Amino acid sequence: MTTPAASPAVRRLDDWDAVDLSALLDDYGSPLYVLDLERVRENCHRIQSAFPDAEILYAVKANALGDVLETLHTEGVGLECASAGEVERALAAIESSTEGDSSGADVHYTAVNPPARDLDWVVDAWEDHPELTITVGAEDTLDRLEERGYDGRLCLRVNPGIGAGHHEKVQTGANAKFGVPAERAVDVLTDAAERGFDVVGIHAHVGSGVSSDQLDDHREFVSRMGDLARDVSDAIAAVDGDGLEFVDVGGGFGVPYREEEEPLDLEAVAEATREAIGEIDATLTIEPGRYFVADAGVLLTEVNTVKEARDTLAVGIDAGMTTLLRPAMYDAYHPIRNLTADSSGTDANDSHTSREMRPQTITGPICESGDVFCTDRQLPASERGDVLAIGNAGAYGYEMANQYNSRPRPASVVLEGDEVRLARRRETVDDVTRLETRRSDPTNEAGGAGSNGNADTDADREADNGHDTR
Ligand code: PLP
Repeated sequence: MTTPAASPAVRRLDDWDAVDLSALLDDYGSPLYVLDLERVRENCHRIQSAFPDAEILYAVKANALGDVLETLHTEGVGLECASAGEVERALAAIESSTEGDSSGADVHYTAVNPPARDLDWVVDAWEDHPELTITVGAEDTLDRLEERGYDGRLCLRVNPGIGAGHHEKVQTGANAKFGVPAERAVDVLTDAAERGFDVVGIHAHVGSGVSSDQLDDHREFVSRMGDLARDVSDAIAAVDGDGLEFVDVGGGFGVPYREEEEPLDLEAVAEATREAIGEIDATLTIEPGRYFVADAGVLLTEVNTVKEARDTLAVGIDAGMTTLLRPAMYDAYHPIRNLTADSSGTDANDSHTSREMRPQTITGPICESGDVFCTDRQLPASERGDVLAIGNAGAYGYEMANQYNSRPRPASVVLEGDEVRLARRRETVDDVTRLETRRSDPTNEAGGAGSNGNADTDADREADNGHDTR
């Protein structure tokens, strides 16, 4: 059994067993996501140990696989959801990990420009799970909740005016899209309390992939949240007698994607957070996503094409930007290892190989020039049929996978000790076309679920299992 904080702060791609991973690809096909639940637990224990007094939520968007949600909830972690679909999956996971007992207390729904269907669904769910919390990021979301009869637990997402993170596309703290300007928070929450909402928290998230050298920005942000919490608590207490229950400073803890990068000093982040927030009569809440799952996952893929291009060896693999979007979307670096070359070396689990090292550009099968995993990276010369592992694929990997180019999404397996389980089967082209209705098919005349193709009634929703209502 893992003791809290005893695990290494990072699991590098080289730490995975090349032979075991190759065997998984033989058994389950390619491309394949692999997630080690034991490593998810280790990451969880390190966070719990660094933040012993905090309420810890997992940002479900990083990896919403049911096994992950159940594992983390069983370890005492709540679930922060970005959509009604995630709330549905979170509640289902909690119900199975608690044998049907869910008040919703461990679920926060962070509404970002929420579609009406999301609000309808979550407010319905709140009737059965009255302790769930809704975080709003716009004043008119309050009106929309009130129209639906919601007067439950309410948190306000503020825009603190400071952003941080590994790429401009993930810096949210100063982005107009997210949250209500912090200077409006006291007025908005006083008004909300007067209207009968149960105001319980304030929230902000500055960005994702925050590194140790951005600690000063983190301190400044948390200190603003502490000041705001004191102001808001006083104002709310004057209306309903209670102050704030929690101050949620978001997630964003970075992980080292590059081999030479040092892991985040989690203890230093925790200490900086505690110091910067100052005295508050409320619980500190954090909601990391990536940190729990990134290094618990790898993506396995097979080389299908090797050609001498003008200045590089161009290597084609069967995973693409539809399988793992981060390199195309954020220019993100992911470590890549040739498992076949490594296992044919002198030591099966050693990254030394007898193959010549060559600069290689590794690309996927999608008809887009952005479908590139690395350019001119020095790796053992690839051969057709080699198995490659792409590291740190546990966070925002499968979650961002899509079916562009009619590419079915890959399978996922989870590891737990010596056990391997297929957690999600590979899609087929039938899955890609399943929701289409064709002129030529007389049974589809009415457009499936309702004449406009949406599931508008409870009966429709039931028929659709709720999944294409959002
Ligand atoms: N909370 C919110 C509101 C987010 O938007 C995100 C990520 O986008 C997170 C938490 C988790 O961020 P990370 O996975 O970087 O920890």
